[in-house]
Amino acid sequence: MDTEQFRKHGKEMVDYICEYLETIKQRRVTPTVNPGWLKNQIPLEAPVHPEAFDAIMKDVENIIMPGVTHWQHPRFHAYFPSGNSFPSILADMLSDAIACIGFSWAASPSCTELETIVLDWLGKAIGLPEEFLTFSEEASKTISSARQGDSETEIHNGKGGGVLQGSASECIFVCMLAARAQAIKRLRKLHPFIEEGVLLSKLMAYCSKESHSCVEKGAMMAFVKLRILEPDENNSLRGATLRQVMEQDEAMGLIPFFVSTTLGTTSCCSFDNIPEIGLVCQQFETVWLHVDAAYAGSAFICPEFRSLMNGIQYADSFNLNTNKWLLTNFDCSCLWVKDRFKLTCALVVDPLYLQHGYAGAVDYRHWGIPLSRRFRSLKLWFVLRTYGISGLQKYIRHHCQLAKRFERLVKSDNKFEVLNDVKMGLVCFRLKDDPTNKLNKKLLETINESGKLHMVPSLVHDKYVIRFCVVAEHATEDDIDYAWKIIKETAVTVVYNEQE
Ligand code: PLP
Repeated sequence: MDTEQFRKHGKEMVDYICEYLETIKQRRVTPTVNPGWLKNQIPLEAPVHPEAFDAIMKDVENIIMPGVTHWQHPRFHAYFPSGNSFPSILADMLSDAIACIGFSWAASPSCTELETIVLDWLGKAIGLPEEFLTFSEEASKTISSARQGDSETEIHNGKGGGVLQGSASECIFVCMLAARAQAIKRLRKLHPFIEEGVLLSKLMAYCSKESHSCVEKGAMMAFVKLRILEPDENNSLRGATLRQVMEQDEAMGLIPFFVSTTLGTTSCCSFDNIPEIGLVCQQFETVWLHVDAAYAGSAFICPEFRSLMNGIQYADSFNLNTNKWLLTNFDCSCLWVKDRFKLTCALVVDPLYLQHGYAGAVDYRHWGIPLSRRFRSLKLWFVLRTYGISGLQKYIRHHCQLAKRFERLVKSDNKFEVLNDVKMGLVCFRLKDDPTNKLNKKLLETINESGKLHMVPSLVHDKYVIRFCVVAEHATEDDIDYAWKIIKETAVTVVYNEQE
């Protein structure tokens, strides 16, 4: 494809995207295909001869689209939102065109420096303590002259900083690795003659039963033990629960080293008690406290939600996915740490071919697993500038109001109940009189099969619930009312059929 062809087809693609998003409502939310269907539609060998763009686009509409689940559909209420917006799409186009691989500062200085600055912008916008920022005013005032001459400190005046990762799973995993490295370092000093493998076998991480499964996966990959704790009746992990098990573990010769907490859990958007947990962590030597706010973190851009972040000053690291609830396309997962040196200590390998002469510059390859990194900060920068903080606040508040509207509708019908405390955009509801969950399962299955709405289940207080999440950027009250109408109508049929 030459430049002229790209110019032409690029415009056609933008038109196709606009048409797709404008008319998305006319499509079923979920496809009707079965596993393996695509192999009957597409040749199993790549074409030997070039094919025309038009032919490819025809297949997009006729073959690919029938198998697409439309996450941007106003009737999609499953999972959490998949961030999307025109400025983000445009910025990703530009990132794809620049196509740099920003593993080090020298590999593309703007790629690195914009990431640092934009993460400071967002960190400030959500009210993170200064210690998490790279350019901290406080730190610049207090930097001691003893550290002058340390070029990294001179360029970046604090010890904290932010980085973009591909996913919340990676954010949590790299923090666990950093905590593990810190713990092993400390233990090696105390017990120089004990094998590292033995020390590793003593390390214990903690999370709540409500934590995302990626914490368990992280522990599996980091080869550390994980204790999964019971939250309280509000699905919130409490300090006393944590203290009790950590003390028991210590008494048994195990070494607590990492606690992963959640603000806005996946099942029901509950909030762990960070102030209590933070105090407990402080009683133990070098326990790393991580706060996962993959979904809810974006809401802290609105000051009225920030009390849910109380205790954040105790945390060592914090993550949120702007690619969930801040109008930014996947992948754009933000991680902030109070001490970036602890993170990079765990992840530095430095072959000659990646070194450069710019001492003190940030090399983001040391902050994560992959070497190669896309220019992801561009899309966050475009989004923050296009909407402004006020525009993003308006978007979040609107979603929360719509969730409250849905909650009111559910509560107005005594056949249904709401099982979570609706603080943000997620409502967990169920038909009441259903001890075996049969009716609720049937209700969800029938709705999903109809293609009119899409929702997924979860468990709240060990009860099967249907999760209803406000997802679409431009969701309206009519969309919420329509969803409730479909749910109510389907429930009548399901209950009636069961009674037959
Ligand atoms: N943490 C929470 C609270 C989540 O809700 C999710 C996913 O929904 C994750 C972590 C995992 O996110 P990712 O897919 O970015 O790894």
